[in-house]
Amino acid sequence: MNNRRMLNKTDFEDFVDSLLRAGITVIAPVRREQGGEKVEYRPIHSPAEIVLSGQPPVRPLKEVVFPPTEPLFNWKQTKASVQIEEVPTEFKETVVVGARPCDAAALEIVDKVMGWDYRDELWFGRRQAVTVLSLACPQSDDSCFCTAVGLSPESTRGADWFMSSVDGGFEIEILTPKGEKLLERCKDRCRETKGRTNAMPSLDAKVRANLNIDPGKVREWLEKHFDDPLWSDVALRCHGCGACAFVCPTCHCFDIVDELDGIGRGQRRRNWDACQPALFTLHGSGHNPRKDQTARFRQRIMHKFNIYPARFGEVLCTGCGRCIRACAAGMDLISILSEIDRKSAEEGA
Ligand code: SF4
Ligand code: SF4
Repeated sequence: MNNRRMLNKTDFEDFVDSLLRAGITVIAPVRREQGGEKVEYRPIHSPAEIVLSGQPPVRPLKEVVFPPTEPLFNWKQTKASVQIEEVPTEFKETVVVGARPCDAAALEIVDKVMGWDYRDELWFGRRQAVTVLSLACPQSDDSCFCTAVGLSPESTRGADWFMSSVDGGFEIEILTPKGEKLLERCKDRCRETKGRTNAMPSLDAKVRANLNIDPGKVREWLEKHFDDPLWSDVALRCHGCGACAFVCPTCHCFDIVDELDGIGRGQRRRNWDACQPALFTLHGSGHNPRKDQTARFRQRIMHKFNIYPARFGEVLCTGCGRCIRACAAGMDLISILSEIDRKSAEEGA
């Protein structure tokens, strides 16, 4: 089957409208209230709300499959027993329209840890329910570096449909069985097309100019430099707020707490957590194995560019640049990776 289709703008809007009328949740980038030009992924009520141009949404798509807080189960304790009430692991059908390639790819990258050792039913329940229509990136900035971590502004990874803006509409590449199922809902509106026409100029060269490194070389350097002076130099500015992890599409750490609801009953919940605040690794004894910000910041870089690649064969970063944009202290992952690359080349020479 030819997997490419054209959909003009009006038909695309009608299609989104038909999804909403069928009771499907549609999530798309929309303007933030009082946020100026900034957009965020949110459920929409009308196709008119969708904003497909401009910078990437401020917060990542991971929230759709991994909410900041969610219940794991409810419990009730009596003198004789504890009763557990499971939470549903099946979710409402959801279509994400206009996901950025760096966000769609992150879902596939995080699948590996969510399916390793123990299968995270809440993550995979939502993954199953969500169809991702990603869009060739319309705008990059100085913080983007997806090309340095094996992706690109036209990466189709993690997408069920890949959409490219063309004159008057979209060219669509259908990539998965889930994508084919969705195509059934707009078959009459689409027409087949052969090659990629892609009217938009690629941002590839612009993004590549921000950072051009070999992640394999970075990993080799990290393996040999646990105690390098670089760590204390770069960590000096970091005040451990964790904002970089919360806006990151691939950070996935969480904490588990019991919230009481009266006497003898409550809810076990998981909440996002992050490796940068000191409390993350603080033991009940008062001992903290990551005793200072140097150790905590090193952990962030090591996990993304050495530990995750060693276990799962890929970098835990899609180069979305959000950690750079969000950091109040001006920590810049592009500069840090460039410095590691420079040191690695120097030592190699
Ligand atoms: S956002 Fe910046 S200051 Fe906050 S923890 Fe991350 S690197 Fe440190
Ligand atoms: S580490 Fe930074 S650039 Fe990489 S995916 Fe996370 S937020 Fe994006």
